[in-house]
Amino acid sequence: MFIKRDDLIHPFISGNKWRKLKYTLAAARKAGKYHLVSFGGPYSNHLHALAYAAKVFGFKSTGIVRGETVSNSMLEMNRNWGMNLVFANRTAYRDRQTLFEQHAGHDPEAFFVDEGGAGETGMLGCEEIIYELEESYDHIFCAVGTGTTLRGLVSGIAKAGKIIRAEGICVLKGAEKMDEDWKRETSDYRLHHRFHEGGYAKHSPQLLAFMKSFYEASGIELDHVYTGKMMKAICTLAAEDYFKPGASVLCLHTGGLFGLSGLTK
Ligand SMILES: *Cc1c(COP(=O)(O)O)cnc(C)c1O
Repeated sequence: MFIKRDDLIHPFISGNKWRKLKYTLAAARKAGKYHLVSFGGPYSNHLHALAYAAKVFGFKSTGIVRGETVSNSMLEMNRNWGMNLVFANRTAYRDRQTLFEQHAGHDPEAFFVDEGGAGETGMLGCEEIIYELEESYDHIFCAVGTGTTLRGLVSGIAKAGKIIRAEGICVLKGAEKMDEDWKRETSDYRLHHRFHEGGYAKHSPQLLAFMKSFYEASGIELDHVYTGKMMKAICTLAAEDYFKPGASVLCLHTGGLFGLSGLTK
């Protein structure tokens, strides 16, 4: 078992959020759009990464946050990096295109970046994870939220002509519809739906205990929303003899450790 440490890319523009932003920011710049407008929950790793990247790369940014007005350390940091925060209730939040028109439609430089950095340019950056591999593996695992990272892996594997089975651990309840949407894909991939622990950001004492013992054994931190669930799932699968003897398994550490600080305290 191997771990690709994308969590070490940057403390704030962490893991797959950098992968997903890279070509999105390039596309915005190419189009002459210098105001990034995006979406996320109050603890969104994506908005956190986008706020910091916007500051570093010379963009304005607006973050449209799901739910009632709240404050937390991640949102405060986003604000300090120059992000304009707007709160939208859950009903309004469903229609992100309308929110974009309402809050940024007047600005010709505004550029829509979907929730979680999802989309074609997001996928493109995630393909590069595959191109960086110096060896081949039988399986590559990642946590699945929007699925953009996994789709990028699948398409990178196909383009590079490698034979690696991409496997995603879904962290949201009821993500089975993704399988329907992905049937068109030709590459070998698999989604696992039984490791979400009740839904997004929900977690059991067993998960926290697992994260702790994993850290003690490896010195590698995991978060309870994404990477903890992924790693625990892989261990469960291994215990169930899911893998052939001698199979090599690459786990993608997608980062997300900043949000952990609230939990450990
Ligand atoms: C956002 C995030 C994910 C989910 O990635 P998707 O491309 O939306 O599936 C996985 N891991 C971490 C740490 C994240 O922050």
